[in-house]
Amino acid sequence: MDALGRKIDYLRISVTDRCNERCLYCMPEGYQGWEKREEHMSVEEIIRIVQVAAGLGFRRFRLTGGEPLVRSDFVQIVRGMQEIPGVETIGLSTNGIKLASLAQPLRDAGVRTINVSLDALNPELYRRITGGNVADVLAGIQAAVAAGFQRVKLNCVLMRGTNEGEIWPLVLFAAEHGLPLRFIELMPLSRTDVLTEANFLPVGEVMQQLQHKDRLLPPPDRREGHGPARYYLLERTGALIGFIGALTNLSFCENCNKVRLTSDGKLRPCLGDHLETDLKPALRPQINDAVLSELFLNTLAHKPAEHSFRANYQPRRVMTAIGG
Ligand code: SAM
Repeated sequence: MDALGRKIDYLRISVTDRCNERCLYCMPEGYQGWEKREEHMSVEEIIRIVQVAAGLGFRRFRLTGGEPLVRSDFVQIVRGMQEIPGVETIGLSTNGIKLASLAQPLRDAGVRTINVSLDALNPELYRRITGGNVADVLAGIQAAVAAGFQRVKLNCVLMRGTNEGEIWPLVLFAAEHGLPLRFIELMPLSRTDVLTEANFLPVGEVMQQLQHKDRLLPPPDRREGHGPARYYLLERTGALIGFIGALTNLSFCENCNKVRLTSDGKLRPCLGDHLETDLKPALRPQINDAVLSELFLNTLAHKPAEHSFRANYQPRRVMTAIGG
């Protein structure tokens, strides 16, 4: 529990700040702020942190980055976590570029759920937003479905004037493949000029657009994941669509259940707040579980009531360096 009585049982762990894409809103052009590799937590350090977190009551874990699948020892991390008592689910957030060949080994190692970022289906637009090749991502999604994960979800960050025209094609794609799709409001976590009045597209507006095409019904199962999305079922298309109104939903933080760990070992109780606790003194030169525990509890006690994104928030670390 944090000081406001919110149950915090979800830890998102960034395993690297490196990425094989360059999304407009995540990593500024020409970004040079890379951590040194020795700053990244080792497999052993991550596993010990998860052990301590599980001992404190954390139950759900998600591995992210940067792009987590660029780490060559990624499967080892999952295997180690999977054996820890108290770890109920291990999820992965990925851009899907390397997923085609890794889906089955990840499933076998113990990943239960996968979120794949997909901001556009149009190959040119996809490349303009991310620098990557959408065909690789689509092959990754197909492999993930075939590998039989408990859940594969799609994530799309909304940018007015950039991928608005992709909203309906993505909805149809999600319906066709039976995959939940979440639309995410752009957050100020890269260059501040990326989040402007002009390119911010609120989820409310997207809901209205979708209502012209189909009826939005409350979903049959309200427990779609453990995250902040509000879900609707599109009556005719059958798509399950989630809306993450990080900026426009004023009660967004009320049910927050997570803290984040950056790849350089900083525990961050809120994505939209600069507060971080450095776990490194409890990891190096030797791992000290008691001190780790204390640092976790202290961080939870200081988890902010809400993010500061609406208060002219100026990022000190970009999203790729925090972990999405
Ligand atoms: N590379 C992985 C991926 O693509 O999912 C994991 C890390 S990425 C930072 C996690 C999620 O954060 C992605 O869905 C990405 O689109 C989202 N994201 C990154 N920067 C964002 C921003 N400024 N506003 C909203 N979402 C953002």
